Amino acid sequence: MHAMAVALHQCPSCSREVSQHDARCPDCRQVLGTDNLCEQCHALAPATRHGHRIVCSACQSVRARRPNTVVSSARALRWLAAWERFRVRVYGGAAASSALFGLLLGGLLLAYAPGSWHSFAWSVLVAMALVTTAFALRIKRVRTLGGARDRFMLQQRLLGYAHQRRGVVTAEGVAHHLDIPVTAADAMLDDLVRVGKADMDVSDRGEISFALHAPRAGSALPRGARPTESVRPGARQRQRQST
Ligand SMILES: [Zn+2]
Ligand SMILES: [Zn+2]
Repeated sequence: MHAMAVALHQCPSCSREVSQHDARCPDCRQVLGTDNLCEQCHALAPATRHGHRIVCSACQSVRARRPNTVVSSARALRWLAAWERFRVRVYGGAAASSALFGLLLGGLLLAYAPGSWHSFAWSVLVAMALVTTAFALRIKRVRTLGGARDRFMLQQRLLGYAHQRRGVVTAEGVAHHLDIPVTAADAMLDDLVRVGKADMDVSDRGEISFALHAPRAGSALPRGARPTESVRPGARQRQRQST
């Protein structure tokens, strides 16, 4: 009965199916759920410690500590990046060794062993090609998940920065605040304009600024994980019982 109560949602960063009780995505480590959604800037981002309080890592406003609130730090983020680099290196080494081993053993057998060994030599080549491919796919997966999460986190920090700036930002300001190139900031802001979440404004002096629309509650959350649902657990329970 309990297992039935676990509703599945999609991770907004990597689209994996996650339970509503997960504080983080098991695959890409993105924080999840309404307990990690900032009520001020509506970013889905971890909190950071600030003296005795915890603040939103995106907009620095004070957060309430809830059961699933993730309190993280810049150091934890660096560890995560280092762990991913380590895994990519290990998989890379394994891929290179299996390719080398397959080519050497298979090649030597084909060149010097009697003909009866040739089918074995080919199976070594094929097996090692498969192992190499498997490790290459692991590398691609780690990179894809990490890349999607980093992009999502950058978007959430942009939300926090825009909240601090009362909704109006420039590409230069975003680039400086997020420590990314101005072209990258420009692309992020253009994306927001394209999906109707911001308007571009050109002043009389030709300065370009972007006005982000006031975030809707839970706009960073996937469908079915809106905060209005979880702040009224009674309503959800009743709904479940009736179905
Ligand atoms: Zn994920
Ligand atoms: Zn915030």
